[in-house]
Amino acid sequence: MALMKCPDCRREISTSAEECKWCGCSDQVRLDRSREIFNDQLQRTTNDLMNQIKQEQKQKIEEENKEKEIKKQKAQEERKKAKELGISVEEYRKREQGKANLGCVVIIACIVLISIYWDTISQLPIVKSLID
Ligand SMILES: [Zn+2]
Repeated sequence: MALMKCPDCRREISTSAEECKWCGCSDQVRLDRSREIFNDQLQRTTNDLMNQIKQEQKQKIEEENKEKEIKKQKAQEERKKAKELGISVEEYRKREQGKANLGCVVIIACIVLISIYWDTISQLPIVKSLID
């Protein structure tokens, strides 16, 4: 049930009410005017919401297109590099993945080594000055 303001007492009454349940206002002309104002506001709010939704959808599509473009560029880049190396794209991807994995392993190995040799490392003057 939608609510509008009574033209007399300004309290909320049903948009379908024939008279105000609070003050008994039953002036049809003024009640109809209130309904009109309510409907206008409802229409405006609905339009605003629709515009907002459209805007958000547009933005989403733009972002998706941008992502697609980036993927396309990346694929092109991969093809180009693979061609330069004289290998297939799959092989190139495997190599790149291997490099990334190796990077992770190296970082983890560094962390492990630092924690193992921390007692020695922490005594180095340069490390000491960093800690203090
Ligand atoms: Zn009233």
